[in-house]
Amino acid sequence: MPSTMLDWPGRMATSLFLSGCGFACPYCHNRHLLHPIDVPGDWAAFATHVLEKRAWLDGVVVTGGEPTDDPDLRELLHAIADMGMPVKLDTNGSRPELVRQLISEGLVSAIAVDIKAAPSHYAAITGWEGAADAVSETVAVVIGSGIEHEFRTTAYPGAVSPLDLEHIAHSLRGGRMYAIQQFRPVDGMPQGVASVEPYADDTLLDAAQECSRHLPTVVRGLSSQEAGAEE
Ligand code: SF4
Repeated sequence: MPSTMLDWPGRMATSLFLSGCGFACPYCHNRHLLHPIDVPGDWAAFATHVLEKRAWLDGVVVTGGEPTDDPDLRELLHAIADMGMPVKLDTNGSRPELVRQLISEGLVSAIAVDIKAAPSHYAAITGWEGAADAVSETVAVVIGSGIEHEFRTTAYPGAVSPLDLEHIAHSLRGGRMYAIQQFRPVDGMPQGVASVEPYADDTLLDAAQECSRHLPTVVRGLSSQEAGAEE
């Protein structure tokens, strides 16, 4: 189980991947996690790993799949809290009430919310009617809580235009950070998705400049950043 500073910027963290997700994004990198599976053995191994490494770990990133779809999430977060480990939660924002509850119980220290599309395209890209409203409510909960957070969008040209990125950023006003992530075709994606040409770096940098009028915005995954620098 690798630990990196990539999944929780500024912290050395290890990641727990929970299975299940109600969305069906065409470019999903974690298709093997979309359907719920029973993972008690995996949890035991993960807990042992965290306890062995806790002297130099700064936190745990709980990700997926979609962690808030896992019925055992609260129990797992309590177990991680008992180890003294702060948690960053990665979520697609589909369950605002649960996010509100987890924040109020102090079970998460930071949250990253994926914003999949502009509101008018949300149902089409996720296959979830009502997704746009749910995610909008999650955004309000997160911003209103004052918790450390970021919002992020994969700039998949098949569903998100540069103008959409600006509209999304406008809807995130008051947020602390917006990260636009370059789309990367990988093995296992449907052919019609894997063959989509990513946006040029300059296109995303220009969009980020426009987005920065609404909240601080960065671009990740550009070919010019392969050495690890962030624009
Ligand atoms: S929300 Fe995340 S895990 Fe779920 S389908 Fe979309 S990309 Fe995959």
